[in-house]
Amino acid sequence: MLSIKNLTASINGTPVLKGIDLEMKAGEIHAIMGPNGSGKSTLGKVLAGHPAYEVTGGEVLFEGKNLFDLEPDARARAGIFMGFQHPIEVPGVSNAAFLRLAYNKKAEADGRDELDPLEFDDFIHEKIKLVAMKEEFLDRSLNEGFSGGEKKRNEILQMAVLEPRLAILDELDSGLDIDALRVLGEAVNRLQRPDRALLIITHFPRILETIQPQFVHVLSGGRILKSAGKELAIELEERGYDWVLEEAAAGGLR
Ligand code: ADP
Ligand code: MG
Repeated sequence: MLSIKNLTASINGTPVLKGIDLEMKAGEIHAIMGPNGSGKSTLGKVLAGHPAYEVTGGEVLFEGKNLFDLEPDARARAGIFMGFQHPIEVPGVSNAAFLRLAYNKKAEADGRDELDPLEFDDFIHEKIKLVAMKEEFLDRSLNEGFSGGEKKRNEILQMAVLEPRLAILDELDSGLDIDALRVLGEAVNRLQRPDRALLIITHFPRILETIQPQFVHVLSGGRILKSAGKELAIELEERGYDWVLEEAAAGGLR
């Protein structure tokens, strides 16, 4: 589904990604972990098409197509979804209207029927149960005044509405209390399907107790220093990141 080869990217002329290789197949859950400032969010934003980041080398294929031939909106229509670490507030745009417009654009791209406001009302009321969100959040402005945890609920609600092929979830766990962590982790698990791939970006292993990845990659200094199975997340929880960095340094990677 996703093939990243020697990807390099810069922001304001400063290299942040320094040669990323990653292969993801449908049905797989991968976790990208690493200390703050490693380039984790940058990787997500480059894949989603954030205009501030300059791709300086390498190749990314999404379902066989060159990802960088597609504008961000075309990537979204093709089935890429990004749940942001810091979702933005959009005062004056109702959450329900935003979700319906997004749903309909995706439906149009997939050749499915669009939903009118009444039909969408029924549809979204089923979806909000998944993330245990109160109805009043549908009538509020998009993310305006939402707490950190409420914003993250809304990101997963968007994922449930858009049914992406590839979902990139950046620090889903930041700002969540224990209960919300469990609810959203379980919601993501329920949304996982054989034809969908998940890229979970996090610097805390805890969320990975609920959303269990088959592959864990440690990103630091813009490079993937180590990749292994889910047991690596447990080891990182016990030992932190330093030993991975030291091991990589000893191996000449950094
Ligand atoms: P992570 O998500 O792993 O914590 P980021 O990808 O957000 O790390 O950031 C990687 C590096 O790139 C950091 O050193 C950060 O300061 C820098 N960076 C990210 N975005 C910008 C930006 N818009 N302007 C300048 N530097 C940035
Ligand atoms: Mg980040």
